[in-house]
Amino acid sequence: VLEMMGDASGGVADFGKTLTESLGALTDSKGLVGIREAVQSLALETQKMQKSNSALQSKLKESSQEIASLRKNLEDVQREAMTDALTGIANRTTLRQRAMEAMEDGEPLCLALADIDFFKKFNDTYGHQTGDQVLKLVANILQGNVKGKDLAARYGGEEFALILPTTKLYDAKTVCDHIRNAVSTKRIRNRTTGEEMGNITLSIGVALYHPGESLTDFISRSDEGLYFAKGNGRNQTVLETQLEVINAD
Ligand code: GH3
Ligand code: MG
Ligand code: MG
Repeated sequence: VLEMMGDASGGVADFGKTLTESLGALTDSKGLVGIREAVQSLALETQKMQKSNSALQSKLKESSQEIASLRKNLEDVQREAMTDALTGIANRTTLRQRAMEAMEDGEPLCLALADIDFFKKFNDTYGHQTGDQVLKLVANILQGNVKGKDLAARYGGEEFALILPTTKLYDAKTVCDHIRNAVSTKRIRNRTTGEEMGNITLSIGVALYHPGESLTDFISRSDEGLYFAKGNGRNQTVLETQLEVINAD
């Protein structure tokens, strides 16, 4: 396009020159022949100009279509980079980004880490593909139980995370227990064979953001709750304040 624009502007300059020359010839011309020649040269140059203009126009149209398609591709790629491919919910990159944003806004902020209990056994029993379906199911339940500025993400493997901005610890517990309940009461059944696969449960750890701490520390405090929940019988939500009491004992 730049090349064509360059050619076009050269064309415009030439056209200007021809105009001036032809007008000069017209003014100086004393006979009909001279006038005819001047007019012919004008008509020829005008045609050339029209041609190059319409070529430029179609080239510009082509480029703007190409730009629109590139922009759409870029948006698609950006969206994919933020999304977990299997479950379609946010991935760890998005989680980190949104957590950092929420850490800035000065409101109470909770982070929950949820891990599926005994998932290895589930995979071993029913196969990895069925396991994948369960991951999708859990992701859907998480996604369906958060709203507004909350974010549900797949943290990795069979582990999920929730960012709950403007939420205090006990309200976060309510959300987590609600999700835990929704997951554990769901009967897992193979749609094709009708086979019943029982229930699955989640262990969850929750921490409240301490202003000034790093995201890594914030996550690892949630992880401590999760670790405790695993050792304490699984299928439960453990808040950081519960750990403080336990540690003090
Ligand atoms: P725990 O209750 O202590 O969390 O036990 P667990 O078996 O869930 O934990 P463990 O860390 O031993 O095993 C995690 C399992 O999660 C093993 C792995 O095969 C499975 N897993 C991780 N990512 C995926 C995945 O993308 N798809 C499937 N189907 N399984 C996955
Ligand atoms: Mg697990
Ligand atoms: Mg795990």
